[in-house]
Amino acid sequence: MGAYELGRTLGEGNFGKVKQARNRATGEHFAVKILDRGRVLSLRGADDQVRREIATLTMLAHPNVVRLHEVAASKTKIYMVLEFVNGGELFDRIAIKRKLSEREGRRLFQQLIDGVSYCHGKGVYHRDLKPENVLIDRKGNIKISDFGLSALPQHLGNDGLLHTTCGSPNYIAPEVLQNRGYDGSLSDIWSCGVILYIMLVGHLPFVDRNMVVLYQKVDLR
Ligand code: ADP
Ligand code: MG
Repeated sequence: MGAYELGRTLGEGNFGKVKQARNRATGEHFAVKILDRGRVLSLRGADDQVRREIATLTMLAHPNVVRLHEVAASKTKIYMVLEFVNGGELFDRIAIKRKLSEREGRRLFQQLIDGVSYCHGKGVYHRDLKPENVLIDRKGNIKISDFGLSALPQHLGNDGLLHTTCGSPNYIAPEVLQNRGYDGSLSDIWSCGVILYIMLVGHLPFVDRNMVVLYQKVDLR
């Protein structure tokens, strides 16, 4: 891939693979999200998600948010060159240890809130915060990633609220389920609360195999 040498696969995304890459000139390592243009154009909403992820990441520069270095495209593929985060997902870190100590949980939660608060200051709402989308670097620092479902100020309705229901069932805030519009910063904070619970307790606060029952547990009205 031009200036980059592609290496092993780091993860599998919805529209393609994420591979490790090395800049031939500088030797620097990156993670490249490779999207198949055909697939992106054929899946409903995918095109918009990719545009959104690129647009938001371009606006953001914070130690706890994954950096986008450049975007390249060929006839068949889109390449997003991202900062390489080499410690895996927060999800695996919790799974390996079963749960984290209060000390580690506090440190990671402070970083998570620092990153999320920075995004909110820029008018960016993530809307899919969960331990699979929070990466950890070599030094044990958090990098928030996967902004494919994020919202920007231009997505607010006339009422100043967001209206698209999105997120993952176990992390979704009650006001998002209620379908009457929601404040993206508050719903992100709800998801952060669920992440904090998992870090310290070792399992999800709201679980049920039946979606209807799960949503009743989340939205206790
Ligand atoms: P999707 O939007 O399709 O869920 P993600 O952006 O979440 O794709 O990437 C899929 C997986 O690839 C992640 O869960 C993670 O394991 C890996 N990955 C993504 N970005 C990076 C990165 N910058 N550094 C290292 N691994 C990454
Ligand atoms: Mg993801």
